Amino acid sequence: MLSSSGAEGFNILRSLHAFGMALCSAAGSGQPACYNFDQKELHLAMEKRHYNLRTNIGYLLNQAKGTFHDFHVEFPEIYLDPDLDVFNLKCDYRFTRNHEGILLQADLQGEIETHCTRCLEAMKVTANTHFEELFVFVERSQEEFEQLVPEDGYIDLAEPFRDYLLLEIPIHHLCRPDCKGICLECGQNLNLGQCEHINSQILFD
Ligand SMILES: [Zn+2]
Ligand SMILES: [Zn+2]
Repeated sequence: MLSSSGAEGFNILRSLHAFGMALCSAAGSGQPACYNFDQKELHLAMEKRHYNLRTNIGYLLNQAKGTFHDFHVEFPEIYLDPDLDVFNLKCDYRFTRNHEGILLQADLQGEIETHCTRCLEAMKVTANTHFEELFVFVERSQEEFEQLVPEDGYIDLAEPFRDYLLLEIPIHHLCRPDCKGICLECGQNLNLGQCEHINSQILFD
């Protein structure tokens, strides 16, 4: 099933169970129930490539254990506060009601803008991540560091998405395998041409 918010560049493909379909019609519109911003908010969000990833899981709380709900969301470009721009982000995630709370399982793939380790030119690296987060019912919580099911039933996915994607950026990444780097004296990008400071240049194989 495919449904769209109607805004360019924002697509939500959802695979739904019969239960999810009931959820959609319960929301009283063709809009996915988990993205509940109005058109004005959406417009502002688009300008900043900022999307509201607050997702309602409240409906799962009273469901039988094992009930799950799958989502597939894609963003050509998205800004994840406070510092991460991601391109072609594909997100597959599942919320499952279990005996302790709500389990989030997510597979993300996106391109992240960074800089070549050698020549400092802007480049993109692909980041893939799979992660799981358990949001524990308040009454079940035993440890201080546990994430709790929020009282309002909304989980903001922007934070875990950002955190797990950041972990996947390799420490060393090159714009091309034979990147020549820069001159330490004048900053000349040696991929683009030589300068006179031969003795200040680090040679790469
Ligand atoms: Zn480079
Ligand atoms: Zn130089």
